[in-house]
Amino acid sequence: MAFSATVHFPQRQKGLLIPTGLFINNRFVASSDGSTIKAINPATEEVICEVQSASAKDIDLAVDAARKAFTTTWGKHVTPTERARLMFKLADLMQRDQQQLADLESLNNGKPNRFARDADIGDSIACLRYYAGWADKNYGQYIELDEQQKFAFTKHEPIGVCGQIIPWNYPIQMWAWKVGPALATGCTIVMKPSELTPLTALKLCELVIEAGFPPGVINCVPSLGSVGGAALSAHPGVDKVAFTGSTITGRKIMEAAAKSNLKKVSLELGGKSPSIIFNSVDLDQAATWTAFGILWNSGQDCTAGSRLYVQEGIYDKFIKILVEKASQFKIASAWEDDVAGGPLISKAQFDKVWNYIEEGKREGAKCVLGGQKLAGKGYFVPPTIFVDVKPNMKIVKEEARACRIFGPVLSVAKFSTEEEGIALANDTTYGLAAAVHSNDQAQCNRVANALQAGTVWINAYCLLYNNVPFGGFKQSGIGRELGSYALHEYTSVKAVHWNFGEKLDWPL
Ligand code: NAD
Repeated sequence: MAFSATVHFPQRQKGLLIPTGLFINNRFVASSDGSTIKAINPATEEVICEVQSASAKDIDLAVDAARKAFTTTWGKHVTPTERARLMFKLADLMQRDQQQLADLESLNNGKPNRFARDADIGDSIACLRYYAGWADKNYGQYIELDEQQKFAFTKHEPIGVCGQIIPWNYPIQMWAWKVGPALATGCTIVMKPSELTPLTALKLCELVIEAGFPPGVINCVPSLGSVGGAALSAHPGVDKVAFTGSTITGRKIMEAAAKSNLKKVSLELGGKSPSIIFNSVDLDQAATWTAFGILWNSGQDCTAGSRLYVQEGIYDKFIKILVEKASQFKIASAWEDDVAGGPLISKAQFDKVWNYIEEGKREGAKCVLGGQKLAGKGYFVPPTIFVDVKPNMKIVKEEARACRIFGPVLSVAKFSTEEEGIALANDTTYGLAAAVHSNDQAQCNRVANALQAGTVWINAYCLLYNNVPFGGFKQSGIGRELGSYALHEYTSVKAVHWNFGEKLDWPL
């Protein structure tokens, strides 16, 4: 195969042949300017392989392919039943290759292999099936009018060519969250995976061909954000851009969209999500959810619960249990037994997180767990907990460039009253997620109502479902993913007024 590489996994005997070309019109092709991206294994810091990197000219080609498919074989030229059939087929193929995809995800992203298989790939398969089910249920409305001889109805038409720009923390899952509603509604796709994790998105393209999707329906163009991402968001031939990543990049994308053709934009950005723990909680359970909330995916999660507010009556006791829980969290490479978290994604992220940790220490926050570099190769950061933090410390307050310390680093502070806990939790420009832990049901309800966040967990953390919408308040984003809400992001509503008898008598 032209543009391919054989990659090798630490715990597997056989290597895997993967495509490394740009995927345009169901073919793997070279970048027009010959540029490539090196895919790195973050657990070893070694190069896995090189993939072709799209230039602005390649983005033009991919957008043209997506436009042609939209106006000939997809869009209004394919039945909802056929769209669903192809999506179910793709999901079945992903299930067939689930372990292979998980191996590749672990290699390129570093995440524990069992989580990659069961959570990332498993949930992505379920997501595609969920949206395949929506393909023939995207109805408009019948609207009765005052005049007897007229009525109106609405149609939810596919918006057109969609640019989708995704991050590196959940490479396949972010792919599925975006591809699912776009395909179900009849849109075509130019997908730009993160330059740090292009491998699984390219491997999925082989399954796109095998499933039988017409050429141009799904295109995939690995590229640097400043090259391919910027070209896609500024492209006049793109009707909608969907993005997950940092707030600063989200702002750039929105600006480019506004300046080019006012394309529709949906943004899923960062957060600095708070958890509030009240005196009445089951200490063990609240500590378990809290540790899970900050350590899942080694803290590289947009919803990670990075700010913790604990009521004064249980503060010392709770921290002791939390530290015990978090210290059992094994950070290691993907295939090790009982591994719970992998390395950070890149040297840049690793350095950034360590700078924050050092800054926290300098500012006088008390580090009760972690905070020390580990020996050896790989971008591993141990679970780190700072207590007695003050609201103006750098590790607590929002950053202009990054939404939060994107790693397993938790900041803890004490509060006394419910009002104070809520005020501290809401003291942020972000509003992606928040949690309240209490055994008082009325308090749970009051606090959930007061929290300014797109997702609120009561006595839980980090749970997301394909049929529940997800997105941010404030500067955490625009629009919603998942659930039926995501379908609105990929459709334009057309109102049709039908006159079946009224005669016009004009001028009056
Ligand atoms: P980023 O936002 O720069 O990258 C995300 C995606 O956007 C990638 O595909 C990238 O190529 C693309 N991109 C970058 N610049 C672009 C541009 N000008 N136009 C269009 N697309 C562009 O994120 P990063 O630099 O990889 O990480 C920086 C910080 O972002 C992290 O520390 C973290 O705080 C945050 N982040 C958040 C999420 C999330 O899930 N919300 C995911 C990844 C990173």
